[in-house]
Amino acid sequence: MWWIVFFGALIGPGICSREKFFGDQVFRINVRNGEEISKLIQLVNSDDFKLNVWKSPSTFGRPVDVLVPSVSLLPVKSFLKSQGLEYSVTIEDLQALLDNEDEEMRHNEGQERSGSNFNYGAYHSLDAIYHEMDSIATDFPDLARRVKIGQTFEKRPMYVLKFSTGGDKQRPAIWLNAGIHSREWISQATAIWTARKIVSDYQKDPVITSILEKVDIFLLPVANPDGYVYTHTQNRFWRKTRSLNPGSRCIGTDPNRNWNASFAGTGASDNPCSEVYHGPHANSEVEVKSVVDFIQKHGNFKCFIDLHSYSQLLMYPYGYSMKKAPDAEELDDVARQAAEALASLSGTKYQVGPTCTTVYPASGSSIDWAYDNGIKYSFTFELRDTGHYGFLLPANQIIPTAEETWLGLKTIMEHVRDNLY
Ligand SMILES: [Zn+2]
Repeated sequence: MWWIVFFGALIGPGICSREKFFGDQVFRINVRNGEEISKLIQLVNSDDFKLNVWKSPSTFGRPVDVLVPSVSLLPVKSFLKSQGLEYSVTIEDLQALLDNEDEEMRHNEGQERSGSNFNYGAYHSLDAIYHEMDSIATDFPDLARRVKIGQTFEKRPMYVLKFSTGGDKQRPAIWLNAGIHSREWISQATAIWTARKIVSDYQKDPVITSILEKVDIFLLPVANPDGYVYTHTQNRFWRKTRSLNPGSRCIGTDPNRNWNASFAGTGASDNPCSEVYHGPHANSEVEVKSVVDFIQKHGNFKCFIDLHSYSQLLMYPYGYSMKKAPDAEELDDVARQAAEALASLSGTKYQVGPTCTTVYPASGSSIDWAYDNGIKYSFTFELRDTGHYGFLLPANQIIPTAEETWLGLKTIMEHVRDNLY
């Protein structure tokens, strides 16, 4: 009926139409040996239970977090019991957490609409983040510029902030990436906070001042804009891009399996319905290709840092193989110093190591591509927490997370400044 279509178009897809998770829970399942991992993989891959994996099974005995829909609670519990797998419920009432997050966001949006400044302690829509990037560039025209690096599958612009004191002179550069997995909201929030931190501390904090005297910083706070909008309007736990997969009803590619680094290898799936689908070919996702093209055209990046959540890890190449990166010792050293600096603020503990042995094998990831293309200082952060809230980290932890992460980032950037090659 035309009027339903018309009315629908008028109100648009808002938070009200977003998928609900009434009665759903998040389970943490412990695994002690290879046999238990196989059982768990069987559970996770079964179409019957409709599980959404938050923290994947690995070969190294990390616990696994899964979102269990209410209809699957009983069958999953009985499967776990019959297989002798230990588990606990980490989130009892998922919808309550979502309602809370939503309520806080709407309250904050109201305040910002009535004239308050951008609240860095709140989660924001894509438009609000883009608007704030513009404000930063306007407030500090000599230091920051908003640059469009491409357009998403759904035709949204992709913006980076370029921080530079070198004018038109091309300097060695650092790439900071966030939000490639759209549901990892603490990463986009930390990135935009970091942007404001860079401009407000320049010429106040000698460390960031001296970094910016030698290198430029490019920051992409929302690397997967279509996915990010989808997490606000349709499904809070969307991870992939929103590109269509011809011949499949499933949408999206995992943009962190889509880089040209052992593409379609271990730890990625060729099934478009999988959360780790690698896409039809390397760089098939325009969001990935835009970054690759920009970095290659620039030609002088020395550092690439990708912010994700959650788990509190700081990792370096490789993910696609167990082989040791030629610079592994130096990278490990820098990562350990960064993790120590990060922990110095409020004791948040990070685990450090190469991706493959710290979490799981993953081919086609951003930092492996960066590293194999001559960007030595390549790191992935998995920000707070370790699973208590998972992707639904409360907004009151944004600033504490961003502040401690900044200490880690600065440690890495100082090392880059002093070891340009
Ligand atoms: Zn991620």
